[in-house]
Amino acid sequence: MKSGWVERDAEAMVAHGEKSGLTRDLALRVYTTRLLGRDPKLVLHGGGNTSLKTTARERFGDEVEVLRVKASGADMAKLGAEAFPAVRLAPMRKLRVLDNIGDVELVGIERANLIDPAAPNPSVEMMLHAFLPHKFVDHTHATAVLSVIDQPDGEQKCAEVFGKRLGFVPYLMPGFGLAKKAIEVFERDKPSDGLILSKHGIVTFGATAREAYERMIDMVTRAEEFIARNRKSGALARASRNLAGEAQVAPIIRGACSEKNAAIEGAWRRLILEFRGNESVLNFLRAKDLNRLAQAGVITPDHTIRTKNWPLVLPVPENGALDQFARAARERADEFVVRYHRYFERNNKRVGGGKHELDALPRVALVPGVGLFGLGRSKQEAQIAADIAEAWIEGVSNAEAIGRFESISEADMFDCEYWPLEQAKLGARRELPLAGQIAAVTGAGGAIGAATACAFAAAGAEVALLDVDFAAAEREAERLGTTALPAPCDVTDASSVRTAFDKVVKAFGGVDIVVSNAGAAWQGRIGEVDEEVLRKSFELNFYGHQRVAAAAVKIMLAQGTGGCLLFNVSKQAVNPGPNFGPYGIPKAAALALMRQYALDYGADGIRANAVNADRIRSGLLTPDMIASRAKARGVSEKDYMSGNLLNREVTAEDVAQAFLHQALELKTTADVTTVDGGNIAAAMR
Ligand SMILES: [Zn+2]
Repeated sequence: MKSGWVERDAEAMVAHGEKSGLTRDLALRVYTTRLLGRDPKLVLHGGGNTSLKTTARERFGDEVEVLRVKASGADMAKLGAEAFPAVRLAPMRKLRVLDNIGDVELVGIERANLIDPAAPNPSVEMMLHAFLPHKFVDHTHATAVLSVIDQPDGEQKCAEVFGKRLGFVPYLMPGFGLAKKAIEVFERDKPSDGLILSKHGIVTFGATAREAYERMIDMVTRAEEFIARNRKSGALARASRNLAGEAQVAPIIRGACSEKNAAIEGAWRRLILEFRGNESVLNFLRAKDLNRLAQAGVITPDHTIRTKNWPLVLPVPENGALDQFARAARERADEFVVRYHRYFERNNKRVGGGKHELDALPRVALVPGVGLFGLGRSKQEAQIAADIAEAWIEGVSNAEAIGRFESISEADMFDCEYWPLEQAKLGARRELPLAGQIAAVTGAGGAIGAATACAFAAAGAEVALLDVDFAAAEREAERLGTTALPAPCDVTDASSVRTAFDKVVKAFGGVDIVVSNAGAAWQGRIGEVDEEVLRKSFELNFYGHQRVAAAAVKIMLAQGTGGCLLFNVSKQAVNPGPNFGPYGIPKAAALALMRQYALDYGADGIRANAVNADRIRSGLLTPDMIASRAKARGVSEKDYMSGNLLNREVTAEDVAQAFLHQALELKTTADVTTVDGGNIAAAMR
């Protein structure tokens, strides 16, 4: 591992910091923390922490010694000086006389000693930083170091690799006890560069930011070189077989890893998937003793809150035998859940009860021959789980290459997983109604489609924006945020629809809600209109809906957790306008289509509903059309747009809300919701 220190960048950071009143030390503290944070081989997603001992001024002017330590959960790659709350050092060090202290009391004392009472909570590993005497202290969960220390003879290997440069602290759960043990080991052995925290990570320290940082790089490099020198060769080649791809297996896995909501019939707890299938993942999945490794546990304790303690291991999915794979996936997922319940009960009892069980669904699924899936309540959580799973594979593979991987005990894992200070990193859990669900919207580049995608994203769904105009879909996806997926989709072309849904499945693992919204208007007096015009309209306004619904149903059936098909049918379906037959007739057929889907797939839990909207400003009803129609009727544009029973203009957002309600109405199917401000001639009867 190479040092990322660049003198010019460091000085630029110092100069930049000066402008906002940062000392040289603090600016460099931020600089090397980011250097550590940007390398996933050192820290991942809020793990790891660093500190600086310096002084600060109290409100009344006195100067006092403080610890500036990374805030709990802050991402080291991106943080600034504000992510280093200042805690008065002397009172924290005095705590060393105590044998133990409860987490709640400790956090209370830390907060009471913050210079800025509004600062974020210091890292859960703060006391370790406070007790060590060094000005700069860096702590990471470097994967190469974990491979060396996650071993039955970890202490011996440490001595071999790091000599007297690092002290060895036996495993204790992060927190006060570990901090006390660490300072004890430091004072006894006087290591020159830092400490190994057994089965957990590495600490380096120094008089300057650069010294502490480069000692970290040095030690990690030693671990890497040791692994390279001692690697036992293990050829894992296997003849390639005819296997199913990730788009075929993802919906099956997603369905198997969903949980029925016992309180609300028809509701499911679902997860989003993130796929990884690179060579090192595939290699690992070929290991003969994959099952043993999969049960061995995490490489460092705080990963457990993201991945749980074990992955779900699935069989090889042979092409043409997906039914068999699906049965096995469900069985193994059920076993996983039962096992997790037992693990919880056993350990909750051990600690005297009082813990609340987290959901028992897997967060990592391993599929030999295909790759791994990270699972989470959002795309972002799934990505984090997948990143950690990849680090786990690297850590375990290298540990096995030089010895035998060994994690902490089950009891220790439980104590970390259910430690309130770890859970706090995940943030308050107020979930949105569509959390865990995937919604695909066609015609998402247009007004109604974009508003609908926006409403579904705001309700917590992961959204895919499909449009024949890919640039428009991209533009709207960008507006929604990082995980929204734009995809080109021409609903008049079956292969384009299949490709688009494949893309959705590859990105999120499946689909739960489809808003079939793409459409366009053709006009003509029905007895005289060219048949070609009518056919064109049917291709888009009827067959388009059919292609989209059929592609979605295929995925929904593979998941086995129901689903929801929503159609934009327009009021033309029930209240035809003069010379508007080429548009209204296929829309009337689309209404019948919706009812047929409701009928044919109700038993599978798939609901089908439609919205009849009218007079919405959109690509179908452009400003020019509004002006000409209003003029033709001799009314103002405003009166034309609000010419309904409520005298209110209907917007794309109103239509989006109707779709959203239909998605949430678990006992409603074959329904038409009218969104037209009131038009008695178009009322459903
Ligand atoms: Zn740690």
